[in-house]
Amino acid sequence: MAQATYLYAIAIGSNRPHGRFGAPARVVEAAIARLDQDFGLFDASPIVLNTAHGGAGRDFANAVALIESDVEPPETLSRLKALEREFGRRGGRRWGPRVLDLDIALWSGGNFRSRKLTIPHPRLSSRSFVLQPLAAIAPGWRIGGLNLRHLAHRLARRPQRG
Ligand code: AMP
Repeated sequence: MAQATYLYAIAIGSNRPHGRFGAPARVVEAAIARLDQDFGLFDASPIVLNTAHGGAGRDFANAVALIESDVEPPETLSRLKALEREFGRRGGRRWGPRVLDLDIALWSGGNFRSRKLTIPHPRLSSRSFVLQPLAAIAPGWRIGGLNLRHLAHRLARRPQRG
Protein backbone atom coordinates (compact mmCIF):
# COMPACT_ATOMS: atom_id res chain seq x y z
CA MET A 1 0.00 0.00 0.00
CA ALA A 2 1.25 3.52 -0.81
CA GLN A 3 2.48 5.60 2.11
CA ALA A 4 0.29 8.46 3.31
CA THR A 5 1.41 11.90 2.22
CA TYR A 6 1.16 13.74 5.54
CA LEU A 7 1.57 13.22 9.25
CA TYR A 8 -0.68 15.27 11.56
CA ALA A 9 -0.43 15.77 15.33
CA ILE A 10 -3.96 15.99 16.75
CA ALA A 11 -4.58 17.39 20.23
CA ILE A 12 -7.50 15.61 21.90
CA GLY A 13 -9.41 16.88 24.94
CA SER A 14 -12.60 16.00 26.80
CA ASN A 15 -14.12 17.32 30.00
CA ARG A 16 -17.60 15.84 29.86
CA PRO A 17 -18.73 12.26 30.02
CA HIS A 18 -20.32 10.60 27.02
CA GLY A 19 -23.53 8.57 27.35
CA ARG A 20 -21.98 5.44 25.86
CA PHE A 21 -18.23 5.79 26.31
CA GLY A 22 -18.33 7.13 29.87
CA ALA A 23 -15.77 9.37 31.64
CA PRO A 24 -13.58 11.86 29.71
CA ALA A 25 -10.58 9.51 29.68
CA ARG A 26 -12.75 6.87 28.00
CA VAL A 27 -13.97 9.48 25.51
CA VAL A 28 -10.37 10.29 24.57
CA GLU A 29 -9.63 6.57 24.23
CA ALA A 30 -12.63 6.13 21.92
CA ALA A 31 -11.59 9.18 19.89
CA ILE A 32 -8.11 7.70 19.37
CA ALA A 33 -9.73 4.47 18.13
CA ARG A 34 -11.91 6.46 15.71
CA LEU A 35 -8.92 8.44 14.42
CA ASP A 36 -7.27 5.11 13.69
CA GLN A 37 -10.32 3.99 11.71
CA ASP A 38 -10.89 7.26 9.85
CA PHE A 39 -7.26 8.13 9.11
CA GLY A 40 -4.54 5.77 10.32
CA LEU A 41 -2.89 5.98 13.70
CA PHE A 42 0.87 6.17 13.79
CA ASP A 43 1.20 6.75 17.54
CA ALA A 44 -0.69 8.08 20.54
CA SER A 45 0.48 9.51 23.85
CA PRO A 46 -0.77 8.28 27.20
CA ILE A 47 -4.02 9.92 28.34
CA VAL A 48 -3.38 12.50 31.07
CA LEU A 49 -5.86 14.06 33.51
CA ASN A 50 -5.50 17.84 33.93
CA THR A 51 -7.15 20.19 36.39
CA ALA A 52 -9.57 22.66 34.83
CA HIS A 53 -8.39 26.26 34.46
CA GLY A 54 -8.45 28.18 37.74
CA GLY A 55 -9.78 25.17 39.63
CA ALA A 56 -13.31 25.77 38.30
CA GLY A 57 -15.23 23.38 36.09
CA ARG A 58 -14.59 19.77 35.29
CA ASP A 59 -11.16 18.24 34.88
CA PHE A 60 -9.91 17.42 31.39
CA ALA A 61 -8.56 14.24 29.90
CA ASN A 62 -5.97 15.06 27.20
CA ALA A 63 -3.83 13.17 24.74
CA VAL A 64 -2.11 13.67 21.41
CA ALA A 65 -2.36 11.35 18.42
CA LEU A 66 -0.13 11.19 15.35
CA ILE A 67 -2.21 10.28 12.32
CA GLU A 68 -1.34 9.64 8.70
CA SER A 69 -3.45 11.14 5.98
CA ASP A 70 -3.47 12.01 2.30
CA VAL A 71 -5.79 14.99 2.73
CA GLU A 72 -4.91 18.67 3.04
CA PRO A 73 -5.48 20.62 6.30
CA PRO A 74 -8.93 22.12 5.49
CA GLU A 75 -10.35 18.67 4.71
CA THR A 76 -8.67 17.19 7.80
CA LEU A 77 -10.24 19.94 9.95
CA SER A 78 -13.70 19.32 8.56
CA ARG A 79 -13.36 15.57 9.24
CA LEU A 80 -12.26 16.33 12.81
CA LYS A 81 -15.23 18.70 13.27
CA ALA A 82 -17.57 15.95 12.04
CA LEU A 83 -16.06 13.60 14.61
CA GLU A 84 -16.52 16.21 17.37
CA ARG A 85 -20.17 16.61 16.41
CA GLU A 86 -20.66 12.88 16.41
CA PHE A 87 -19.20 12.58 19.91
CA GLY A 88 -21.16 15.65 21.04
CA ARG A 89 -24.38 13.82 20.64
CA ARG A 90 -25.41 12.60 24.08
CA GLY A 91 -27.79 9.74 24.65
CA GLY A 92 -27.94 9.23 20.88
CA ARG A 93 -30.86 11.63 20.55
CA ARG A 94 -30.07 15.27 21.17
CA TRP A 95 -27.18 17.60 20.61
CA GLY A 96 -25.65 18.15 24.02
CA PRO A 97 -22.54 19.94 25.27
CA ARG A 98 -19.49 19.10 23.23
CA VAL A 99 -17.65 16.24 24.86
CA LEU A 100 -14.72 16.11 22.48
CA ASP A 101 -12.29 18.79 21.30
CA LEU A 102 -9.91 18.02 18.42
CA ASP A 103 -7.30 20.51 17.22
CA ILE A 104 -4.59 20.23 14.60
CA ALA A 105 -1.40 20.95 16.55
CA LEU A 106 1.08 20.31 13.70
CA TRP A 107 1.32 18.77 10.27
CA SER A 108 4.29 17.58 8.29
CA GLY A 109 3.68 20.23 5.61
CA GLY A 110 5.05 22.97 7.90
CA ASN A 111 3.13 26.23 8.21
CA PHE A 112 -0.45 26.54 7.02
CA ARG A 113 -2.65 29.60 7.29
CA SER A 114 -6.15 30.34 6.07
CA ARG A 115 -9.10 32.29 7.46
CA LYS A 116 -10.21 29.24 9.46
CA LEU A 117 -7.02 27.45 10.23
CA THR A 118 -3.53 28.16 11.53
CA ILE A 119 -0.91 25.42 11.82
CA PRO A 120 1.15 25.14 14.00
CA HIS A 121 -1.76 25.76 16.38
CA PRO A 122 -1.23 29.31 17.72
CA ARG A 123 -1.37 28.24 21.38
CA LEU A 124 0.66 25.06 21.05
CA SER A 125 3.81 26.45 22.65
CA SER A 126 1.93 27.72 25.73
CA ARG A 127 -0.26 24.66 26.38
CA SER A 128 1.59 22.12 28.46
CA PHE A 129 -1.33 19.67 28.19
CA VAL A 130 -0.59 19.47 24.44
CA LEU A 131 3.14 20.12 24.35
CA GLN A 132 4.16 17.57 27.00
CA PRO A 133 2.37 14.54 25.49
CA LEU A 134 3.40 15.63 22.00
CA ALA A 135 7.05 15.94 23.02
CA ALA A 136 6.82 12.45 24.55
CA ILE A 137 5.90 10.83 21.21
CA ALA A 138 7.58 13.21 18.73
CA PRO A 139 10.53 14.76 20.60
CA GLY A 140 12.50 15.60 17.46
CA TRP A 141 9.70 17.37 15.54
CA ARG A 142 10.90 20.93 14.96
CA ILE A 143 8.93 24.16 15.08
CA GLY A 144 10.73 27.33 14.12
CA GLY A 145 14.18 25.87 14.69
CA LEU A 146 13.51 24.31 18.12
CA ASN A 147 12.43 20.73 18.65
CA LEU A 148 9.43 19.73 20.79
CA ARG A 149 11.56 18.28 23.56
CA HIS A 150 13.25 21.63 23.95
CA LEU A 151 9.97 23.60 23.78
CA ALA A 152 8.34 21.31 26.37
CA HIS A 153 11.33 21.63 28.67
CA ARG A 154 11.26 25.39 28.29
CA LEU A 155 7.53 25.56 29.11
CA ALA A 156 7.96 23.30 32.14
CA ARG A 157 10.39 25.84 33.57
CA ARG A 158 8.01 28.73 32.90
CA PRO A 159 4.49 27.31 32.72
CA GLN A 160 1.64 29.23 31.15
CA ARG A 161 -1.80 28.16 30.10
CA GLY A 162 -4.08 29.45 27.45
P1 AMP B 1 -12.38 25.28 19.14
O1 AMP B 1 -13.85 25.02 19.02
O2 AMP B 1 -11.98 26.11 20.29
O3 AMP B 1 -11.57 24.00 19.01
O4 AMP B 1 -11.99 26.16 17.85
C1 AMP B 1 -12.17 25.59 16.63
C2 AMP B 1 -11.98 26.60 15.52
O5 AMP B 1 -10.68 27.17 15.57
C3 AMP B 1 -12.09 25.86 14.22
O6 AMP B 1 -13.40 25.88 13.71
C4 AMP B 1 -11.08 26.49 13.32
O7 AMP B 1 -11.70 27.33 12.38
C5 AMP B 1 -10.20 27.33 14.25
N1 AMP B 1 -8.79 26.87 14.19
C6 AMP B 1 -7.73 27.67 13.87
N2 AMP B 1 -6.59 26.97 13.88
C7 AMP B 1 -6.92 25.68 14.23
C8 AMP B 1 -6.17 24.49 14.39
N3 AMP B 1 -4.83 24.47 14.22
N4 AMP B 1 -6.84 23.36 14.74
C9 AMP B 1 -8.18 23.40 14.92
N5 AMP B 1 -8.95 24.49 14.77
C10 AMP B 1 -8.33 25.63 14.42
